[in-house]
Parts: sequence; structure tokens; C-alpha cells
Amino acid sequence: MAENLWAIGVDLGGTKIEVARVGAEGKLSQRLRRPTNIQSGPAAVKAEIVAAVRDLQEGASSLPAGVGVGVAGQVDSKRGLVRFAPNLGWRDEPLQPDLSQTLGLPVVIVNDVRAATLGEWLYGAGQGCNDLICLFVGTGIGGGVVSGGQMLSGCSNTAGELGHITIDTQGPSCHCGNQGCLEALAGGWAIARQAKDAVTANQVAGASLLKMAGGHSDAITAEIVAQAAKASDPLAVHLIDNVAQALIAGVVSLVNAFNPCRLILGGGVMEGLPELVQRIDQSVRQRALAAAIEPLQILPAQLHNDAGVVGAAALAMQTFNRLFSHGGYRGHREKQSKI
Ligand SMILES: [Zn+2]
Repeated sequence: MAENLWAIGVDLGGTKIEVARVGAEGKLSQRLRRPTNIQSGPAAVKAEIVAAVRDLQEGASSLPAGVGVGVAGQVDSKRGLVRFAPNLGWRDEPLQPDLSQTLGLPVVIVNDVRAATLGEWLYGAGQGCNDLICLFVGTGIGGGVVSGGQMLSGCSNTAGELGHITIDTQGPSCHCGNQGCLEALAGGWAIARQAKDAVTANQVAGASLLKMAGGHSDAITAEIVAQAAKASDPLAVHLIDNVAQALIAGVVSLVNAFNPCRLILGGGVMEGLPELVQRIDQSVRQRALAAAIEPLQILPAQLHNDAGVVGAAALAMQTFNRLFSHGGYRGHREKQSKI
């Protein structure tokens, strides 16, 4: 029986599909990465996932417990539909039934950031903790909230949109239609936008950033801004200071609202600026409610790019393998439908 304790995790994003073979202790043993061919339509993307899953099954002595798919978008897990995935251009796409039928395997789908939160919770920086928040600061900002041992899903399954809490009521416009969201101030796309605007407004101050982007302001990325800040470029340092202030304000709000034991910071922007974790920690301790910060730990994420596939595979194991149990996490079997 024990040899059956593995699953396949899929992380389906707008630019790439990651597919991995994951064991019961969250160990990733094999992975495949393919570009997401959005232009060819949903059927082609599904066929790509099917081919990758079959590749990973080759040579295995047992069937996987199932396939878990994290999708960058809003998901109806019960009906197996991707409700809306702007980066894929999908609406009401029956991903779970189509994959399950073609593969002949049980499949479960979930929002990608919630999958990553599950990964960090079970196997990363959140192990053994039943009250935690994961905040992933990448191109966009998203997260997951675990409270009392349950992943919060909300009334219509959209809980965890932590990037869209308002930080500045007069702030810049956000992709969601609101203005001054955390994501519109500190997400990777917003950092790039702010840098481009600053360089356009003052080419002398922006000379370093422009040079690093090959002379094209449109080529400035958040990564370039982070590198320039590390080299003490004054404009980049100023931009990253603003990002840090927005993140501090956001984390103070989350800590006061949810009282987590651990707040875990991950995503590409945090990985590029790891020193921000300590800076956020120090300021949050000065500004959040005393009773909320006393037990609080603020930690960097541990699984890095693997969190999504590992979490999606863990969800498949929890959902489909009745023998699966995880030592550090009580009650997950009762909670699985909430994820
Ligand atoms: Zn927003």
C-alpha cells in the first residue's frame, strides 16, 4: 500500500506549466516544465498537461493517488471548473472532468496560490502550525490564510486575495479595478511600472536603470530594480523603500485581522530582496497590536518555486488516498473539502 503514496502536482500558469512527481513526505522526485501555449486554446493546454503526466507515470511501479492542479485563477473545486483565469484567457473551463476522463485518474483543481500555501503549510515554513498566513509577492500578490487548522475559502471561494487589500485610497490603479491595492504598490508589475514612470520623468536619476534595461525603459523589470537597489542606485533604493512601506502596511493589517502565529513571505520579489523579511519584521513589531505580535514569527518561504506543485500534489493525496496521513497536521482529512 505504501508504495502508492505519491501524486502528481501541476502548476498551470499563463506562461508555463510545471508538472512534478511528489512523494508522501512532500519530496519532489521528478519535474517537467513546458510553455503554456495559450494561443492554441484550452484543448491544447489540457493535452500538454496529459502528455506531461503520462511522461511522469512512465516506469512507475504503482499508480499515483491522483493529480492535483493549481491554476492561476478563480476555481470552482466542487464542479471542477476554472471560473476565470485572466492569464490563460479561460472562462468556465471544465478542466478537472476533462483531465480526469482522459488520464483515467482522479483529479482535483485548486487556485495556484492556495496550493502553494498548502505546500508551505505541510512541508515548508508552516509545518506544525495551525494559524498562518502565506503572502506571495511575485508579479502579482496573493496568499492563503490558515486559521484554526483550516484554509479559509470564504463565501464564494475567493478568500486569500491578499494583494487587493487597499493600502492607499489615492494610490495607483490596480488590475482589479480598485486603486491603491497592495499589489498595485508592491507587486512585480507595479514595481516595473513605477520604475518606468520615474525614468521617463527624470532620465538623469534613471540613468542606471535605463542602462541596465539596455536603453529601453519598457524593458525595466522588478528584478532590474532590485539589482539596482542592491548596487545602491538612489532611484532604485527609493522605489524599493516604497515597496517595503506598502508591504509593512499590508502585513500590519493582516496580522491585526487574523492574528497568525506565523506569517510566511515568498514569491519572486521576496526572493530577489530577501533582506526585506527582516525589515518588515522589525517595522511590523512596532506597528501591529501588541497582543497580535507577541507570538508572531515572520519567516521566508522554504519551498521556493516548488510550493505550487508540492501543494497541489499534497491536495491530491489528501483527497484521494484514504491511507494518507501527515504527522504534523491534525485533522486535515476533515478539512480537505475546505481547501
Ligand atoms: Zn487590486
